Amino acid sequence: MIDPFGRAITYLRVSVTDRCDLRCVYCMAEDMTFLPRGALLDLEELDRLCAAFIRLGTRKIRLTGGEPLVRRGVMTLFRSLGARLGHGLDELSVTTNASQLARFAGDLAAAGVKRVNVSLDTLDAGKFTSITRWGRLERVLEGIFAARDAGLAVKINTVAVRGLNEDEIDSLLAWCGEQGFDLCLIEIMPMGEIDASRSEQYLPLSLVRSRLARHWTLTESAYHSGGPARYFDVAETGRRIGFITPMSHNFCESCNRVRLTCTGTLYMCLGQDTSSDLRAVLRSGADEAALEEAIRAAVARKPKGHDFLIAAPGESSGLAGEAPPAVARHMNVTGG
Ligand code: SAM
Ligand code: SF4
Repeated sequence: MIDPFGRAITYLRVSVTDRCDLRCVYCMAEDMTFLPRGALLDLEELDRLCAAFIRLGTRKIRLTGGEPLVRRGVMTLFRSLGARLGHGLDELSVTTNASQLARFAGDLAAAGVKRVNVSLDTLDAGKFTSITRWGRLERVLEGIFAARDAGLAVKINTVAVRGLNEDEIDSLLAWCGEQGFDLCLIEIMPMGEIDASRSEQYLPLSLVRSRLARHWTLTESAYHSGGPARYFDVAETGRRIGFITPMSHNFCESCNRVRLTCTGTLYMCLGQDTSSDLRAVLRSGADEAALEEAIRAAVARKPKGHDFLIAAPGESSGLAGEAPPAVARHMNVTGG
């Protein structure tokens, strides 16, 4: 599928649930309300939609959420998608907070998953609990090591948050080097109302990179994951560090992805509201040809880029009562 701006759409991210066992401060409000279970597509419906995408040229599928590993029975979906590897699908992966990974790492590897992205913003147990509101670092580390032991390549995703983990980026980079993991830093995006100010949380990665350059030799890498990250080789560790900078450097021109929510809404862009209700199509009794046509028609409406903007401290920040966030839905709905 080629969108109106000439971009080949080959990557589907699927948020299999909006629920999560954590409440990261930049992602969710503490008192989030979640979708009623009845609103969700069942796992067979998700599999059928993914199969239609694969027939239309999707080569890579990532399951995310919310926390994908808290969805009951999710391994059934991993297994059915895994069976499509080599039959149109080249890669099946997952983004997880790792809280359930110790339990599932072996099953994921058996289903054909080769790599996992784990979100980890700090190595300080107290800070971890305050960022996630109640998570336990120890459990997450157990999950990460179980993944490595199961033969999965682990990439650590860290959201850079002003005043929260900005003093820890060096130690995270060193730790990833010791453990054999790549690290990818992400800028805060203004998605959904939360309990804090985005402008106070926002830390430009250009600043983080120049701070890192004092202690580390970073050389622009030829490696490209096909995603929005720009990678650098870290001479001291032999690993890579990636920077995802939606705010300070727009990467939309090379976007290859669309995002499906657990209710079957297809979002053409993380930072725009353009969407298509594929659940309605699915449940109207549509055959495979009609389903594919609905997906094609949706991709034909993919916007050029996102509208994210974070005000400078002291200006409007996207809090309730101030200017609304660029996108009203939270990250757990569309899947980060
Ligand atoms: N629960 C899983 C996890 O945390 O890895 C998967 C879903 S989570 C929404 C995916 C990624 O989005 C995580 O790396 C998280 O840190 C990131 N994220 C959540 N809210 C964000 C925001 N407002 N800005 C930037 N990244 C965000
Ligand atoms: Fe849950 Fe992931 Fe959002 Fe944290 S970032 S609250 S782990 S969905």
